Amino acid sequence: MATNESSTLRTPRRLLFGDLWTYAPAPESRDIVRLQPRYGHFIDGAFTEGGETMQTINPATEEVLAEVAVGTSEDVDRAVKAARRALDGPWGRMSGAERGKFLYRIARLIQEHARELAVLESLDGGKPIRESRDIDIPLAAAHFFYYAGWADKLGYAVPGAQVGPVGVAGQIIPWNFPLLMAAWKLAPALACGNTLVLKPAENTPLTAMRLAELILEADLPPGVVNIVNGAGATGSALVEHPGVNKIAFTGSTAVGRHIQRAIAGSGKKLTLELGGKGANIIFEDAPIDQAVEGIVAGIFFNQGHVCCAGSRLLVQESIHDEVMEKLRWRMQSLRVGDPLDKNTDVGAINSREQLERIQTLVASGVEAGGQLYQCPGDLPEKGFFFRPSVFTGLAQSARVAQEEIFGPVLTVLTFRTPEEAIERANNTPYGLSAGVWSDKGSRLFMVAGAMRAGVVWGNTFNRFDPTSPFGGYKESGFGREGGRHGLLPYLEVR
Ligand code: NAP
Ligand code: MG
Repeated sequence: MATNESSTLRTPRRLLFGDLWTYAPAPESRDIVRLQPRYGHFIDGAFTEGGETMQTINPATEEVLAEVAVGTSEDVDRAVKAARRALDGPWGRMSGAERGKFLYRIARLIQEHARELAVLESLDGGKPIRESRDIDIPLAAAHFFYYAGWADKLGYAVPGAQVGPVGVAGQIIPWNFPLLMAAWKLAPALACGNTLVLKPAENTPLTAMRLAELILEADLPPGVVNIVNGAGATGSALVEHPGVNKIAFTGSTAVGRHIQRAIAGSGKKLTLELGGKGANIIFEDAPIDQAVEGIVAGIFFNQGHVCCAGSRLLVQESIHDEVMEKLRWRMQSLRVGDPLDKNTDVGAINSREQLERIQTLVASGVEAGGQLYQCPGDLPEKGFFFRPSVFTGLAQSARVAQEEIFGPVLTVLTFRTPEEAIERANNTPYGLSAGVWSDKGSRLFMVAGAMRAGVVWGNTFNRFDPTSPFGGYKESGFGREGGRHGLLPYLEVR
């Protein structure tokens, strides 16, 4: 039996199944989305024109979707002042129960417009519609629902203490989960009674602008939520604005460091959600077929543009060959291509710059002597695409094994004992996520407990829930988002 299965796995899927595995295209219609030719900012409850613009494109086709204003420091100043006025206005005096109603309303509006938001997210960022439809948008709504429930129960978040809002929050988010990251930032801030200014990523501003329209529809008082578009300089102006009481940043470790220096001594509160290089550890007693699915979900989900991706696979030596054979076989059935096709597993890389960064790091791995396996099949001619890839035969010190790639590239290392697995997993400057696969509960808990990582999954990977705190250790940042912990950065505790 074993020999038969193994020889099957060695035969390319194409030779075995021929056309059986080719699916007819199943494109999601983009008619549901109404794009505006130009987007400004959302300040004090109104859409502004804005001045100079940048373009946001569809990374799967390189088509320009819209012109988007680049926020100046004056735009940021107007937004911060509007947020301050709103804090001193009716919003600041509103009861938690009343505030909660607004969050419920926003959550329901996201649900009502889920299909439209999913198509818009896939158009602007390149992620497969299957993921934006089934993961990003439902989770964004779930975040608002969850924190809506906290709005009138904040006294229980920190028992025995008086709590109140921190004030005006400046929030900066990346391009990998645009609407979901906006929800992670907005929902807890609003539940705690803060007002805020959000800066979306320059590559993916469109769902945030649609969210602004829904916020208007929800009748949130003007100035409670402000959105200023732009690039790094706009984010920097927000960070440095003296009227901001708290900065919440999700993005790269380099920019996070810069922000930490910029606000040192200013008294501003800070949370940083930064990069990662998560270890996915497979023990020899693990359910191998499930683990292979977990490896795929860990690194190829969202093209690997995931801060908590399981980008370092640690396999026990005794099962290395079997796991690799099954993984290669599984990778042959991944469909890479049009993000709007419902059959697509891996969509477009978010930008040309990101694609070039992935190519550079992969070339360094080949140069360092690694063996590279890549998904077979044709890639679309236009747009930014990269084949799901796996490196074996590299040393832990290789650049690809150390640096965050933020793309669909896995590095495989081996270990012999649980102690060695723990040591190798923690041997990274990051500490955001890890996964442990074993049939033995005691081993699972022992290894999970020894991980210096904010999130550890057992016999699964890349699962998210608004009730569960998320965040990092070491160079992956500090502060938690999600769950009760996610309220604390937005509360002044007396
Ligand atoms: P990034 O370059 O650090 O950008 C993040 C955000 O900061 C963007 O809105 C960016 O604007 C803005 N920004 C850039 N320079 C700035 C400055 N000097 N001051 C203030 N804001 C500035 O990161 P990215 O490449 O977009 O995102 C990928 C990174 O995010 C990865 O490292 C990933 O691991 C991390 N990430 C972490 C988490 C987490 O929860 N830990 C979640 C998702 C992603 P522009 O877009 O216009 O440049
Ligand atoms: Mg775009």
